[in-house]
Amino acid sequence: MWERYDPMEVASIQSFRRNPQVFYNWIRPLATSLLTAHPNPGHLALAKLERQGLLKAIITQNIDNLHQQAGSQEVLELHGHLREATCINCYRVVPTQDILDAFLASGEIPHCTRCGGVMKPNVILFGEQLPIRVVNAALMHTRKADLMLVIGSSLEVAPASHLPLMVLERNGRLIVINMTPTYIDDMADLVIHADLAEVLPRIAQACSRG
Ligand code: ZN
Repeated sequence: MWERYDPMEVASIQSFRRNPQVFYNWIRPLATSLLTAHPNPGHLALAKLERQGLLKAIITQNIDNLHQQAGSQEVLELHGHLREATCINCYRVVPTQDILDAFLASGEIPHCTRCGGVMKPNVILFGEQLPIRVVNAALMHTRKADLMLVIGSSLEVAPASHLPLMVLERNGRLIVINMTPTYIDDMADLVIHADLAEVLPRIAQACSRG
């Protein structure tokens, strides 16, 4: 995605405050495809592992809500989500559903019904702090983990990219499932370069038999 767009131009908090229309023009087609997306077998397998008591939490950089749609309960969204939006002037929070359809139809920037300020979806833009409570919960789970699955991430964005190292430092185990190599492959207990939508259901199936 970032090969076609300059993230600081379309998705930084500075550019949002300067000209929110640029952000909204960029996110409009993305939002449309997010709204029609469905969980894949990989999402469903992770929810199954959680129901079995084997998976304690999902730490994700995704903003697409698909883990929740699949039935996962403990989902820590480091980069926020699109379910709510916040007024950048008075900090009023509203469900995105209330403003999304009108925005998608018209392309016009949503404004706060109380003060007229611009509404910003609760995704974390470049230049913004990560949500501290989510980060702390992710760290708590990481410290307790005896096994971490690194799934579908090239591990290029901090702080999520550091979490697998913390597991290894505490003698936890690491399984990497990704199409392309990551920096941590050499240190992992198991590396699977394959489609996670195929691998994860087989893992969940094997666990339920055991
Ligand atoms: Zn407001």
